Amino acid sequence: MKLVLLVVSALSALLLSLAPVQQPVVADVVLKNGNVYTVDSKSPRAQAVVITKDRIVYAGSNEVAQKFVGAKTRVVDLKGATVLPGFADAHQHLSGVGMREMTLNLEGTTSLEDFLAKVKARVDQTKPGDWVTGRGWIETHWKPPVFPTRWDLDKVAPNHPVILNRADGHGSVANSAALKLAGIDKNTPSPFGGEISKDKQSGEPNGMLLDAAQGLVRRRIPPTSREDAERAVVLGVKRNISLGWTQIQDAGGSYNDVDIFKKLYAAGMIKLRIYKAVHGPGASATRLLNEGPTIGAFDNRFTFRTIKVVSDGALGSRGAALLDPYSDKDDTSGFLTVKAEDLRPMLLDALRKGIQVETHAIGDRANRFILDEYEAALKAVPADQRKVADPRWRVEHAQIVNPVDIPRFAKLGIIPSMQPSHAIGDLFFAPSRLGIARLEGSYAWETFIKSGVVVAGGSDAPVERGEPMIEFYAAVARKDQKGFSGEGWHPEEAVTREQALKMFTLWAAYAAFEEKLRGSIEVGKLADLTILSADIMTIPAPEILTTRCVMTVINGEIVYEGS
Ligand SMILES: [Zn+2]
Repeated sequence: MKLVLLVVSALSALLLSLAPVQQPVVADVVLKNGNVYTVDSKSPRAQAVVITKDRIVYAGSNEVAQKFVGAKTRVVDLKGATVLPGFADAHQHLSGVGMREMTLNLEGTTSLEDFLAKVKARVDQTKPGDWVTGRGWIETHWKPPVFPTRWDLDKVAPNHPVILNRADGHGSVANSAALKLAGIDKNTPSPFGGEISKDKQSGEPNGMLLDAAQGLVRRRIPPTSREDAERAVVLGVKRNISLGWTQIQDAGGSYNDVDIFKKLYAAGMIKLRIYKAVHGPGASATRLLNEGPTIGAFDNRFTFRTIKVVSDGALGSRGAALLDPYSDKDDTSGFLTVKAEDLRPMLLDALRKGIQVETHAIGDRANRFILDEYEAALKAVPADQRKVADPRWRVEHAQIVNPVDIPRFAKLGIIPSMQPSHAIGDLFFAPSRLGIARLEGSYAWETFIKSGVVVAGGSDAPVERGEPMIEFYAAVARKDQKGFSGEGWHPEEAVTREQALKMFTLWAAYAAFEEKLRGSIEVGKLADLTILSADIMTIPAPEILTTRCVMTVINGEIVYEGS
């Protein structure tokens, strides 16, 4: 004990001697008695963090931190809570998260009965004839695990049109009133790229609408007003901050979102950092290429420099583009959703103008396609002709990648941006879609890291729940939330806690060109912190799931305090 004390005071003395001698800085906030993980290899642990204005001015011992305390300093005793660099969600859809809060939120629905009870409660508060919409249900763990039907919904909603999105967004269930408004009956053919699911005996539509077929009903819903769109963003921000996210990287959308974000930032209504992309090729991407990026607006909270491309669909609906046919449906291998001739001029322009590109690619064919396109563009516009020499282009999801293609990411400097929760959801059906052999190179986080790239971690909410603790747990456990892991789940692809922490802090910052500004607790960096009720670096993995955010700090300001 004495020896420890000696070492500690020797360390403090050393730190003191390194501290600037001129004028002691008076802190705005001193957080002490914390269990701090800095993600700074030079000094990985600390007890206290000192903040002045928007910056970290000291991380180290309680004793030294005390010297920064002045008359106006707010001193917070963390009582041993765990302090991490502010978590960033490298792939989220912010307004979708907000809309899920505003409409009926069906996340975590445990059975058909539970599902119908939630729908009934919402129907009872809604004027007859008005729409009831919602999102987030998933039947995988219901008993039996089957889709709900229009007839189930009709029992609780005979007088309201209802449409409810499955969590993944690739399917919806509608009731009879909604199908009637859309003019869908047994004679309606399935549209291109979608399916109107029908009852095997009667041939009547059973209410399930897949992919493009959802649009037949959705276009009958009155469009979201500007006011509601703004409210959704505010609600999405509030939820994110309460979970401990300090930045979200908004994967797609349009200038509409950009206008809403700017207005809300200017009004002081958003504290969360947003790193924004818009969809391309198309009008939004062209405008971004012409007008140029926005970097660090609103006190470094808002950056907009990225085009989001979608190159294929999803695995669950067999829309992911595979090199070989699906193992459970050999007449299809999915499809690419972008044409090379539309993409190519945009990629060249983006390199010349310093615009980042991120591309959704799920299947091994889509991943190879986009790597080929990126490689050709990088070759055609060498570094000295680029506005940003290292453009840090990204592949979103990078889910099923042929092992031959994995080393190409490091070689080309491409960042895989991956969502751990996708693996623990998809691995229930991935073996049947892909076969066991193709699961090598699927959700291959550890192989990617070993190949020499950084992996940016995200949630893809509202496709997934969007909770940092679920993502962190999925990354380190690679088991579902009940601890289940099946054949072909490749447990060796789980990452260490240190790697998982980097995925949601420093590496997510790197994917946004912000590793010098954020992503670790270091002097001079922006003061973003996520403070948790338990030490997720050491507790048994299942306890990560019950760990709560107790405080969120963004730009030096305590923006959320839990109980
Ligand atoms: Zn997404």
